[in-house]
Amino acid sequence: MLQDLSVQEQEECARKKVQELIDSCPRCNQSPDDIRQIRKAFELANDAHRGMRRKSGELYIFHPVAVATVAAVEIGLGPTSIAAALLHDVVEDTDITLQDLEKLFGPKVASIVDGLTKLEGVFDQNASLQAENFRKLLVSMIEDVRVILLKLADRLHNMRTLDSMPEHKRYRIAAETLYIYAPVAHRLGLFAIKTELEDLSLKYEHPQIYASLSAKLLSNQDEYERSISLMAKPIREQLDAAGVQYEIKARTKSVYSIWRKMQAKQVPFEEIYDISAMRIVFKPKSELSEKTQCWAIYSVVTDLYKPKPDRLRDWISVPKANGYEALHTTVMGPEGRWVEVQIRSERMDEIAERGFAAHWKYKASEAKESEIDNWLNSIREMLENHDSDSLEFLDNFKLNLFASEIMVFTPHGEVKVMPVGSTALDFAFEIHTKLGYHCIGAKVNYKLEPLSHELRSGDQVEIITSDKQTPKYEWLDFVATAKAKTCIREAFKEERKQYIQQGEQLLNEQLQLKHLSINNRILKKLMKYFHLETREDIYFQLGKGMIKLDNMEKILAQKSTNKWVKYWRLTFGGADDDADDDADTVRPKVKNVVLTDDNLTDYVIAECCNPIPGDDVVAYRDDSGKLVLHSRKCPTAIRLMASRGDRIISTQWVSHKILSYLVILSISGIDRQGIVSELTKIISLEQNVNMRSVHFESHDGVFDGNIYLYIHNTADLNMLIDKISKVKGVHNVLRKERTETDNKA
Ligand code: MN
Repeated sequence: MLQDLSVQEQEECARKKVQELIDSCPRCNQSPDDIRQIRKAFELANDAHRGMRRKSGELYIFHPVAVATVAAVEIGLGPTSIAAALLHDVVEDTDITLQDLEKLFGPKVASIVDGLTKLEGVFDQNASLQAENFRKLLVSMIEDVRVILLKLADRLHNMRTLDSMPEHKRYRIAAETLYIYAPVAHRLGLFAIKTELEDLSLKYEHPQIYASLSAKLLSNQDEYERSISLMAKPIREQLDAAGVQYEIKARTKSVYSIWRKMQAKQVPFEEIYDISAMRIVFKPKSELSEKTQCWAIYSVVTDLYKPKPDRLRDWISVPKANGYEALHTTVMGPEGRWVEVQIRSERMDEIAERGFAAHWKYKASEAKESEIDNWLNSIREMLENHDSDSLEFLDNFKLNLFASEIMVFTPHGEVKVMPVGSTALDFAFEIHTKLGYHCIGAKVNYKLEPLSHELRSGDQVEIITSDKQTPKYEWLDFVATAKAKTCIREAFKEERKQYIQQGEQLLNEQLQLKHLSINNRILKKLMKYFHLETREDIYFQLGKGMIKLDNMEKILAQKSTNKWVKYWRLTFGGADDDADDDADTVRPKVKNVVLTDDNLTDYVIAECCNPIPGDDVVAYRDDSGKLVLHSRKCPTAIRLMASRGDRIISTQWVSHKILSYLVILSISGIDRQGIVSELTKIISLEQNVNMRSVHFESHDGVFDGNIYLYIHNTADLNMLIDKISKVKGVHNVLRKERTETDNKA
């Protein structure tokens, strides 16, 4: 083991790794200047970090060396980036200054390291340091995209070594990775890194789920390979006969994407049918275009296997915004299953795996504005609107990382790539801010449609404007792009401020009549009653007359705490206080929390996800100081962990036998006489379960229904699910995600 070696031996080992990196770096060209620069960067970093170790016991210098290796080998960056990667932590963690770096390595390396160095200074309590840091990162990124590429390399290595972090820190890092860094990697087309980041996040957030899914994948691997190679056999014969040089691989879905699909479709692993796909990568012949050759292979495949008509994806004629090019089709395989086939040239494959970003700007031939440039421009616009607070900015930025896209055409046939859900108004703003502000409608495929009309891929859109039109606040309800949202908010900034003042005054007057004044508790009740998220929203909507205080009595009479709270016992992990911070998160101000029976009323179960004992949970300290328990897979919690990690406290349930929690099981299967009574009998025989109600429906020989149960913890629940799924006729038993309406049922 590394950590057992002496310091000299470890340093020698790190030095050797740098040499290997230089030897294998495709962009170093072995130029003596470049090599000297990289070695110099290593020696400086090594001296500066001397004496520092990572949690695992190995010298700290292995971290920058690993980051540099990811940058060179996995992203394909060149010597300047490698030097910056080696030096990325010296300014933050040692006495070396940016001025030193500029003198020794020039302005480029220094400015990249500056972009990677976390913000210093004091922030007001409401600003999220994480979001603020991220914003700084983006400002540097639009100057030089290498900053964000190195940041991804840094994050990847931290995720790979997350085991050596304390547990409570892991959730935060994992959530932040899932919320921001994996989508950024995706947006930049770094598919391999995105996949690894997602899988690692899942591994730490839900270790058991991750372990069981990867075990299942592994045990089925031979079967996937066999099945794909059976299907490939006749394809190979045809391609060989046509003299095509190619490789056919079985591609397996990542653990995270399988889990996502199971969640989205509410089905077990066994019912995910597209776990394996076929990928055909060919060496293009010079006399034909790559596009023609892709379609020729497509033709061979679909002559042999019937394609599913609605599953053809042509990302060759119009590549994805992140640069991805390929032809995808889904065909009926020889064993009666749909199988996706991906067809790419070697060049397309390289872009897909390592990203467009590495090719971009450094290859002189790429002169025209790429989609990445467009994207960076849109971020530049968002950043210019520096009045928006950092959390709002983070959310807007998220919007900009859309996963799926549609293509929409201007009247002149120019194509715009936009997120799914975009409306005619989004399109207007996409073309020009002014066009958006004055938009009154649109002709979509020559037919008149309202502003809120949702666009579909292939639509041709002509925007209709009027000088009399002015921006409307309600527009925010139906726009999907960050650009449109930012523009509309911008138009209302002044007006909003006034309404907020009026609203606050109005509320004060109303409360004074009852000899009360504004406080957190009342605001919380108002937010809950009107389903609003911030106090500003309350004031604003009051001021604008969108909500009324007619029901003040009722609002104030609401119970604000959950009555079950009293009986919970939780163990809380210590919040962060260690100095080691190489995973780029914020040092929180939260002290260690120890729970006693007396302070238990401080804890509230989040209504969005309703975790029960045994679920993976975290606690979030809200504005009023209450600790709200969320399920770790709750989207709200992931957002909070990513943006307000300083307020997250890792928690764990200990055993629960005192109190029961409401859980809904959704069951479906083939109907037969007596099945309902059989199910209810099984449940009533379970000692730790109480049934509240049963709703079953049967139609055409199939039944489905919900059973409402009180249960102590997930262990009891899983045992019961196991028993129910063994009943003859039952096809599916699932724990339903509860919603607010279910709570009232
Ligand atoms: Mn680092």
